[in-house]
Amino acid sequence: MQTSPIEVTQTTGAKPYPGLELWFVAGSQAMYGEETLAHVDAHFREISAAIDEAPAVPVRVVPRAVVTSAEEILRLCREANITEECVGVIAWMHTFSPAKMWIAGISALQKPLLHLHTQFNERLPWSEIDMDFMNLNQSAHGDREFAHVLTRLGVARKTVAGHWRDPRTLDRIGTWCRAACGWREAQNLRLARFGDNMRHVAVTEGDKVEAQLRLGVSVNGFGVGDLTDAIAAASEETVDRIVGEYDRDYEVVPELGPQGARRGSLIEAARIEAGLRGFLEGGGFQAFTDTFEDLHGLLQLPGIAVQRLMADGYGFGAEGDWKTSALLRIIKVMARGLPGGTSFMEDYTYDLTPGDERILGAHMLEVCPSIAAAKPSCEIHPLGIGGRDDPVRLVFTAAPGPAVAVALLDLGDRFRMVANAVEVVTPGQALPRLPVARALWRPQPDFFTATEAWLAAGAPHHSVLTSALGIDAIADLAAMAGVELLVVDDHSRLPQLLGELRWNQAYYGGRRC
Ligand code: MN
Repeated sequence: MQTSPIEVTQTTGAKPYPGLELWFVAGSQAMYGEETLAHVDAHFREISAAIDEAPAVPVRVVPRAVVTSAEEILRLCREANITEECVGVIAWMHTFSPAKMWIAGISALQKPLLHLHTQFNERLPWSEIDMDFMNLNQSAHGDREFAHVLTRLGVARKTVAGHWRDPRTLDRIGTWCRAACGWREAQNLRLARFGDNMRHVAVTEGDKVEAQLRLGVSVNGFGVGDLTDAIAAASEETVDRIVGEYDRDYEVVPELGPQGARRGSLIEAARIEAGLRGFLEGGGFQAFTDTFEDLHGLLQLPGIAVQRLMADGYGFGAEGDWKTSALLRIIKVMARGLPGGTSFMEDYTYDLTPGDERILGAHMLEVCPSIAAAKPSCEIHPLGIGGRDDPVRLVFTAAPGPAVAVALLDLGDRFRMVANAVEVVTPGQALPRLPVARALWRPQPDFFTATEAWLAAGAPHHSVLTSALGIDAIADLAAMAGVELLVVDDHSRLPQLLGELRWNQAYYGGRRC
């Protein structure tokens, strides 16, 4: 699979992660004899094909083997570790598979593991059932034996119970697989920072060594001069092409149009975009940060450039916020090919109308147009901070619907994630004087619980807002990473959330990550 951040355009029936694979393995034992194992193998292949064909499952599913010995299992797990295309392993015990033989292999496995608790038949053949049937179809206890050893080993895994043709089962496998693709991305993620964090700010800081050690993310600093060199090196042809895309894809206000008095600012914005793209592509970076406090040589704070790079799949964090930038990239990879959008976001201000409390999210400029409800407007307005020329930006309102706000913070001894299920709503009134893109949402279960929990968790003002994925995908990712996650949704009650934070302190506290 290419590591380029450019999103893959989906064609009907194609998987959104070309080249990536899930490996499927079934456990059994030699004692059953060849005839039974032949049935097991046939059933295993049929189930594998069904999972592979499910539109909800975003990668190819490869039926690796029905395994009956510790040596085979160890060999297969080691092969999974070194196979770049393999994003995870699904294991299922059609028959009884004495689990001591799984200890070595599972202990060696470094890829995400999904334990599929299914059985071949959906309904029992009541009038025909005999002991041959019972002995062939015994996932009910074979999977218990397997899970016992997983628990005893302390292996992080996802357990999915249900018949393999049930769309709910396939959806859950697909969701977990997306998290596995995001986790794989984290291992390979290279992030470029232009300048440092905004001075004096605490929450955007963090341990970059720990990020690489625990999450795989490589965070690399550059002087903004490196970026201005890339901008200066951008070809006129590239700048012209980007200006053409602005004219074509957005409602460009007349002052920025071909005859407009401020056309030069639009061309300069396109030049910044060309330079940024060139720098990121040249260095193999899939995410980046900048800061308005360090714009030496930049004529505008990058606005539309950052917005369009996010729309193409890049991670971004403002004010040097590399944690949110990395998280955005990972979630964008997880969401690939799905309807909805994913953006950098900031809790900005509130509407505290009693009974209808909502959060207005925005940023100075940098909100991703993938969440826009309609064609964005391309505008230019003054920006009070940064001390540069007025920046060009895309202005729009986010599309209504369910979404999740996700944040990643560094507590000093570990990372923590917080995910809040929200409902993005359409503002009841126009916002004619607000010159930035925005999203208005109602947090679950209510404003008070959500914000009090968010604050108690020490979670940041920057987040990733996604309407493409639900809480389950975020929870699967956190589990793979071994990172604490506080979920705030319609089932949440504040006393339990506060208790959970205390329990998490006992479980995760003092551990690195
Ligand atoms: Mn900010």
